[in-house]
Amino acid sequence: MAHTHNKQGLKIIYRVIVIFKFFKKIFSVNEPTASEVEAGQESRAKIYPRSEHCISRAQISENALKVLQRLKKADYDAYLVGGCVRDLLLGREPKDFDVATNASPEQVKQVFRNCRIIGRRFRLAHVFFGREIIEVATFRGSETAESDRQVVHEDGRLLRDNVFGTLEEDVWRRDFTVNALYYNIRDFSVVDYTGGMQDHANAVLRLIGDPDVRYREDPVRMLRAIRFAVKLGFTLHPDTEQPIHTQAELLKSIPAARLYDEALKLFLAGYGVQTFEMLRHFGLFAMLFPDTDKCLETQDHDFPRLFLIRALENSDSRFADGKSLTPYFLLAALLWEPLQLAAEKRIQQGEHETIAYQNAANEVLSRQIKITAMPRHITQSMRDVWFLQNKFSKTFGARPYRLLEQPKFRAAYDFLQLRAETGGADPQLVDWWTRFQAADEDLRRKMTAPPKGNASKGKGKPRRYRTRKKPEAPQ
Ligand code: ATP
Ligand code: MG
Repeated sequence: MAHTHNKQGLKIIYRVIVIFKFFKKIFSVNEPTASEVEAGQESRAKIYPRSEHCISRAQISENALKVLQRLKKADYDAYLVGGCVRDLLLGREPKDFDVATNASPEQVKQVFRNCRIIGRRFRLAHVFFGREIIEVATFRGSETAESDRQVVHEDGRLLRDNVFGTLEEDVWRRDFTVNALYYNIRDFSVVDYTGGMQDHANAVLRLIGDPDVRYREDPVRMLRAIRFAVKLGFTLHPDTEQPIHTQAELLKSIPAARLYDEALKLFLAGYGVQTFEMLRHFGLFAMLFPDTDKCLETQDHDFPRLFLIRALENSDSRFADGKSLTPYFLLAALLWEPLQLAAEKRIQQGEHETIAYQNAANEVLSRQIKITAMPRHITQSMRDVWFLQNKFSKTFGARPYRLLEQPKFRAAYDFLQLRAETGGADPQLVDWWTRFQAADEDLRRKMTAPPKGNASKGKGKPRRYRTRKKPEAPQ
């Protein structure tokens, strides 16, 4: 009898332990505290449970949630990662949503019908939902581990890193700590290996690892540092900031097509003015637009800096108003002063003005495309805007009508307006064109009627509106 009592007592104790363990498991999944997780893949990671961060599913694109949930259902790990987590933590709407997973691209493709595998260097899966694309990347292997699939150039540049890996390895190849946060769809926690949450709270942009090595691996990270610091309103950590001053030259090794893409992100994302100032401060602007930088060094009465600032302000406010932004307008502004100097030199050497401008444009553009590879349709539009500038002074007869019909008229007129605002063109001319566009047929005819008699015909040269002094002639 006593024996059966003992047996039953043990059974009850055992059951209590099982139930206790069960509840402990449930609660630790839903509400773990931010703590070092000792074992397994997430060693050294800090886990911020849902209650300790502000990312809510309501802010996440429905399509990104679908991708995360379906990967989870198929028993894969799935996280939001990169810029979207960083932006969500700031309460901003992310530009796009990137997913990281332990599923290979082929496995991702098996889960989604609307999926395409892209990329040769590192294969990624794109999942399509109408116009929205969710990029799904398989965790990438460590950059530092010895592997025959990685190639490091002798100057330290990373040429290939196409090895799949674990989440922990994926973390260390990312650039900044705030870009290396992972939002886990399993428990809605944020996984942080690099102190990104703390840096985020302190508004600090910090490169992961040894900055010297990381900039050498990929010098574009210097441009990204400036871009994110400005966009997020973060300060650069001193260790992240310091090497930029001395390593800017490394950008010379970057292919021109990539630098063109980066230049657009730098100047056409709504923060052009601040980005421009900061790039100049670090000597990075000179790497992107050396001719323009040279002009800025010899500036006179804040010219041409003021013109560039106004052009950038113009782009920034268009961005803020949700208007379209065309790269050629700003690029035409950035290279306007080098064009002027090159054309003037040619005119002094006896070339006809029109020919001088055409040759100068060829000269300036062919130098620039070696650094930032603008596509042909962009350089053609830049030329259109430039060459139309000289035509605005012809306000008599049929010419103004023809100018009005030019496809790039509006951009060229806006360009003229910017020049006039900063002392580079006649404000009365802008005024004339503003009135001409608004005028009815009758008024247009009056405005373009040739002046009576020869009184004002061909009297002297038109005033030049550049305030810059001519460079001193060599002795
Ligand atoms: P944005 O808002 O401009 O898209 P982002 O952080 O999402 O910012 P992406 O260029 O879309 O920037 O890159 C996505 C993520 O990939 C980054 O957050 C970062 O983790 C990683 N990454 C991108 N470029 C690099 C790089 N050059 N070096 C290391 N990691 C990078
Ligand atoms: Mg992004």
